[in-house]
Amino acid sequence: MAETSPAMTMESMCHGRQGAEMRRTLLEGMLSRPLTEAPPAADDAALAELAGKLDAVARRRLGRSLSIREVDAGSCNGCELEIHALNNAFYDLERFGLRFVASPRHADVLMVTGPVTRNMREALERTYNATPDPKWVVAVGDCAADGGVFAGSYAIVGGVKNVIPVDLHIRGCPPRPVQLLQGLLALLERQSE
Ligand code: SF4
Repeated sequence: MAETSPAMTMESMCHGRQGAEMRRTLLEGMLSRPLTEAPPAADDAALAELAGKLDAVARRRLGRSLSIREVDAGSCNGCELEIHALNNAFYDLERFGLRFVASPRHADVLMVTGPVTRNMREALERTYNATPDPKWVVAVGDCAADGGVFAGSYAIVGGVKNVIPVDLHIRGCPPRPVQLLQGLLALLERQSE
């Protein structure tokens, strides 16, 4: 019978120890809860009231729910994350009839983010011209207001108002989803007076 060398014995011991550690890690992973951040404290009633009011004002003003076209004119995407949150499972904007549309031809509101870059200037003008009246432009975020942290850059033409008429500025870097809803509501209420 062949003798087992000391080196081989050490190697198999190491493999055995690694295998046991791996099994323990896998088992812990299967039995422990996923490591995620707790959701923000929900004020469902306030959110529902806000979005419900917005839908009611839109129906009074337009005879239907509000359609929004989002335009990224050069943002860092921080504002987009907050706008997209309006459609996630937490805010779920569509349950109140408000919806984002893929074409400016179907939109009532253009929600524009970012400083307007030189490359996006013409696209923004064309998007504005393609949106049927009545239409409103909401500039979202500090960059859309006056260039924000990008002010003075050679690559931008400035805030949204430098390119198309703006009906409402919603400040913030970025503004929160509730601020976006509050801004839209204020805009439509002002229009229906
Ligand atoms: S306002 Fe802030 S989050 Fe929004 S595009 Fe500008 S830098 Fe990004």
